[in-house]
Amino acid sequence: MSAGRASLVRENPNLVLTPRAMPDALRCVIGLGANLGDRLATFESVVRELAGLGKVTGVSQLYETDPVGGPVQPDYFNAAVCLETELEPTSLLVHLLEIERNHGRVRQLRWGPRHLDLDILWIEGRAIHELGLTIPHARLLERNFALVPLLEVAPDALDPNTGLAYCEASIAGNREGMRLRGSRLCPPEQVAGRSDPVSLWSLRS
Ligand code: AMP
Repeated sequence: MSAGRASLVRENPNLVLTPRAMPDALRCVIGLGANLGDRLATFESVVRELAGLGKVTGVSQLYETDPVGGPVQPDYFNAAVCLETELEPTSLLVHLLEIERNHGRVRQLRWGPRHLDLDILWIEGRAIHELGLTIPHARLLERNFALVPLLEVAPDALDPNTGLAYCEASIAGNREGMRLRGSRLCPPEQVAGRSDPVSLWSLRS
């Protein structure tokens, strides 16, 4: 266990941490967003596709969220997936962009409606500032619809730049504009290697 994880556990005795499935792999959290098409089917397919890039160790609940910025557009579905992968961050991004394209993502308007948006929200212990890739995601601490699901799959996540435990961030407990739409049905280990549709969430109205 890393020093950061160990001290977080000491300070938060009720915190339940998922044991690392692949100790040499990077632990990443991927944010999922969509507001066009069959959002649930898209997310269920994406989780299976992510399982092809490593090991999916956590899937958050499913939220419906108000659009932030951009034109008038439909509400989003948002969720987060914890992935342990041996891919380097730039390769991971290339795979995510390909998955987006396969789901009909066409880059048009910034913050415009989309069939699928995949963001690398966080990678344990990594801070990256490159052209085309910023990790942690540049707006993670401004977007509760990203941070709230992230904390469900990585409750011990620390900001690699500041050491801040994200669970202590001011927006961590703020659910404004977010509605719980799906409780998790299927444990992540049942997703790996499945090509058939898997129901990950039971939808609430
Ligand atoms: P957007 O569609 O607005 O999410 O922007 C996607 C672009 O943002 C990608 O083509 C990446 O080059 C860039 N980008 C920078 N940092 C990240 C990140 N952490 N995760 C995903 N995309 C990123």
